[in-house]
Amino acid sequence: RQERYRELRDLPAETRDSERIKLLVNAGLLVDLPQLADAGADGIGLFRTELQFMVASAMPKTSEQERLYAAVLDAAGEKPVTFRTLDVGGDKVLPYLHQSPEENPALGYRALRLALDKPGLMRTQLRALLRAAGGRELSVMFPMVTDIDELRQARDLISREFKQQTRFGHVMPRRLKLGAMIEVPSMLYQLDELMALVDFVSIGSNDLFQFFCAVDRGNTQIAGRFDDLSPPFFKALRDILRAGERNAVSVTLCGELASRPLSAMALIGLGFRSISMTTSAIGPVKSMILELDAGHLAQELDSFLEDRFRMGTLREFLTTYAETH
Ligand code: PEP
Ligand code: MG
Repeated sequence: RQERYRELRDLPAETRDSERIKLLVNAGLLVDLPQLADAGADGIGLFRTELQFMVASAMPKTSEQERLYAAVLDAAGEKPVTFRTLDVGGDKVLPYLHQSPEENPALGYRALRLALDKPGLMRTQLRALLRAAGGRELSVMFPMVTDIDELRQARDLISREFKQQTRFGHVMPRRLKLGAMIEVPSMLYQLDELMALVDFVSIGSNDLFQFFCAVDRGNTQIAGRFDDLSPPFFKALRDILRAGERNAVSVTLCGELASRPLSAMALIGLGFRSISMTTSAIGPVKSMILELDAGHLAQELDSFLEDRFRMGTLREFLTTYAETH
């Protein structure tokens, strides 16, 4: 199998009906980078910047952050990289950042909420990103956006930092793309407002599903109880894709859902043309794509989702589809 995946490495991920699918990887540390080229991925769809903070015993300095981001961009070369700003709090604890105990950390003081309250922390990181990408293209996205105003504040911070760094004579990115993660269900009802403010969105299906079904993603007793291959969740994803088309904003998905060939197949059937996954999933997912007729699946999936009297689960439908086509 590994051998076969290696053979696929230099082939574009294209379905039988000629739909080119962008396959990106999720990464977070320097050690992830050599695998990027080996896997035959199209770029990094999610760079989890918090990992550098989590493995350090003290807050990484601006220069250390800048060095890492520059190394990531160097390693990626011409391929695109999307950096996510610090996503700490919840299950991601920094030992040196004091946080009060919380009863519901997943719903608590985390990610963008924390970052907007500590603009020093956020501006240091944005400064490191802007400097690291001097003369190149930079894509930055913000995690756990819950309302539009948070995104306005985040955009404001980055544009202030951009101006200040320019004034200080630093070379700034030649192009800056800003994005939001969609991982809180409140965003589903402000998609057009959101999309007016960003260049791209990326769905964090792990958190979106956790909040969509009110099911703790880390609690093994219940995490597997509800299936993320389910019609209501897929309809939510479809609404995001449609809003992306309406607003000419690109939509990617970077949660675990993209890492399993069966669910990646379903995402492509739904209309996704760009997905980001763990590196080891690239081979299996590409192999699935080469066999797939995306247009045919799209029709079948749509009829399944629209059929009120459907029998069986979405997972059963997809499994049968994968076996018979
Ligand atoms: C997600 O929530 O799906 C996601 C990609 O982010 P993380 O898993 O880092 O929370
Ligand atoms: Mg998340």
